[in-house]
Amino acid sequence: MTHYGMLIDVGTCAGCNACTMACKYQNATPHGTYWCKVLSGERGTYPNAVQTVLPMSCQHCSNAPCVRVCPTGASHYDENGNVQVDYGKCIGCRMCMGACPYDARSFNWFDSAEHPYYEGFEQTPYEQMRAAEHPVGVVEKCVMCHGRTEEGKEPACVQTCITKSRWFGDLDDPTSELCKKIEEMGARPLKPELGTKPSVYYAGLVD
Ligand code: SF4
Ligand code: SF4
Repeated sequence: MTHYGMLIDVGTCAGCNACTMACKYQNATPHGTYWCKVLSGERGTYPNAVQTVLPMSCQHCSNAPCVRVCPTGASHYDENGNVQVDYGKCIGCRMCMGACPYDARSFNWFDSAEHPYYEGFEQTPYEQMRAAEHPVGVVEKCVMCHGRTEEGKEPACVQTCITKSRWFGDLDDPTSELCKKIEEMGARPLKPELGTKPSVYYAGLVD
């Protein structure tokens, strides 16, 4: 079976947020909603402090707490082993947001085609059209670019990464470049102790 996953090398990630913008452009997410983002921090003490970056999105857990707690079956696994939300079944209870240990989900409080996010805010006709993809009152998150992968393309964040710090592929195929890179780079998921079994792996993490 296919099981799509991703590898991110934080050692070469430039923290440029090209992936963040590619995701927003691809998925037309509402104002203030980021399915993909880059968290920044620092490690060490002056004069040896360094800046750290951590690209974050849904980890597409194989043992997903969000799927377990969803009372309606809206949160579910797709045919590629990734976690998706069926907006038609979502009742907006936000149980999944509380259960996700990676803070990967957002709630749509407003109709982004109508809500005046700031003074003078006005959507373009194109933005209004795409706003219909994000209904009010539902929870959303990264969809592993399902539409793109169906067409044989990589997720937008992977294709756009300027330092080629992201790989996408089939975790169930040991001969895939993704699996070989995970092995070669000694990559591991975030918070493995929680038993969520993420499909996203990271290389270059420093404890
Ligand atoms: Fe669910 Fe959060 Fe895991 Fe994504 S990262 S599958 S939202 S628990
Ligand atoms: Fe399921 Fe929607 Fe409730 Fe989340 S907010 S648990 S997806 S019904």
